Amino acid sequence: MNDEPDLDLAAEDLDRPDLDPGDWPAFRALGHRMLDEMIDHLETVRDRPAWQPVPASARARLGTALPAKGTPLATLYGDFRETILPFPTGNAHPRFFGWVHGSGTPTGMLAELLAAGINANLGGRAHAPILVERQVIGWCRELFQFPDSTAGLLVTGTSFANLLAIAVARTDRLGAAVRRSGLRDGPRLTAYAARSAHGCITKAFELLGLGSDSLRLVPTDREFRIDMTALRQAILADRAAGAVPFLVIGTAGTVDTGAIDDLASLADLAAAEDLWLHVDGAFGALAMLSPTLKGRLAGIERADSLAFDFHKWAHVPYDAACVLVREGDLMRATFATEPPYLARYERGAGAGAPWFADYGIDLSRGFRALKVWFTLREQGRDRLGAAILKNCRQATALAASIEGCSELELMAPVGLDIVCFRHRGLPEPQRDALNKAIVVALQESGVAVPSSTLIDGKLAIRVNLTNHRTTGADLRIFLEAVRAEGARLAPEMAGEAQA
Ligand SMILES: *Cc1c(COP(=O)(O)O)cnc(C)c1O
Repeated sequence: MNDEPDLDLAAEDLDRPDLDPGDWPAFRALGHRMLDEMIDHLETVRDRPAWQPVPASARARLGTALPAKGTPLATLYGDFRETILPFPTGNAHPRFFGWVHGSGTPTGMLAELLAAGINANLGGRAHAPILVERQVIGWCRELFQFPDSTAGLLVTGTSFANLLAIAVARTDRLGAAVRRSGLRDGPRLTAYAARSAHGCITKAFELLGLGSDSLRLVPTDREFRIDMTALRQAILADRAAGAVPFLVIGTAGTVDTGAIDDLASLADLAAAEDLWLHVDGAFGALAMLSPTLKGRLAGIERADSLAFDFHKWAHVPYDAACVLVREGDLMRATFATEPPYLARYERGAGAGAPWFADYGIDLSRGFRALKVWFTLREQGRDRLGAAILKNCRQATALAASIEGCSELELMAPVGLDIVCFRHRGLPEPQRDALNKAIVVALQESGVAVPSSTLIDGKLAIRVNLTNHRTTGADLRIFLEAVRAEGARLAPEMAGEAQA
């Protein structure tokens, strides 16, 4: 017997290497420079193009193989400044109107730095970051007037939040046993959303094994909201055919036009038909922050579940979203597991049950809550709400200018903050191509970044205003640029068509 351990705790290869800086003072100096330069970058965002393509040189430098040897941090930072920093999507720029993007805040950037410094894992356990996420969820519950029974979770985006909520709705109908049995012998479930609903909802049905065929996409009315009559008919028809309607999904702020489904009527219908009501409020739900706008969301407080983003209209840096479920126990019944290696303790670092891991799919979870907490506390409800209201007023004013301009036509009513229109410089069927060309030309000029969508099958220039930096002057510059590009491109394209 030899009771000397053969582990030599003094051996140097047990100590080296670690991954911390070799030279802390130099690291500190460079870190300060990075911070200063990123603050400069944000302060001067207006002076740069709204977007520019990534040049071939930068692409090449971003295509090299996995490095075997390390690179000095100063060199890496130089690479970042030359190949990455100048070529963002542009959503921080005041004339970025594409898709639905938030524009971020300098404070959000600092909060990301602090969160990365702590490097917390919010799957569970006993630590202060968990309390921050609980507080953020509590604030959301308060904002949307959800009851104490509500549970919630911060997730990457509304796509993910919708998926979780629909999984909980499935548990509500089929019981937690569906986790073992799957959908094999169950009833034929059907669900309902407007045709204008976001594509991620279809994806959720695919992933949950419900199948996208069981999601009925209901026609919309003239305001691009779900057509309540068509919805009732669809439910009736499905029941008659032996299916089991279980879920209706309303959208607060559709991605094409910003339309808000009639949430109060949907809540009435859900109660009468015994359906789960889920609301996809990706960006629109946060209109709740504005006393002027919140009435438009009446009924949202009656939803069984709600999904929304912080990274859109709350301008929290990507990514951050929230799902709320009125009956929180159902969320745990859907997702909780407790393998031995994750045993919850009464005391010590392994305490703090229930864990957030029990409310979703992710076990390891970042400290997203901190940037949300900083943003909500720094700005407060009133200022965030005022920025949202400003965007809606800008959309209304922009739509009025478009209607007063003979070369342009408005394509849809302004639901909230989105304006869809087109240039009339060429007759149909060339008008689609002209408007697409205008969108690309504006983006490539760096003046502004609109996007496009189809409204009644026609290509529309789409201006989405979830941008706190946009001013009235930015909208004037944008409209002038649209008219100038239209005037330049229409004759060129007419000529090409004749040639
Ligand atoms: C953006 C959006 C989504 C998807 O949210 P992500 O945060 O991008 O995952 C879903 N629904 C609507 C209405 C949206 O605008």
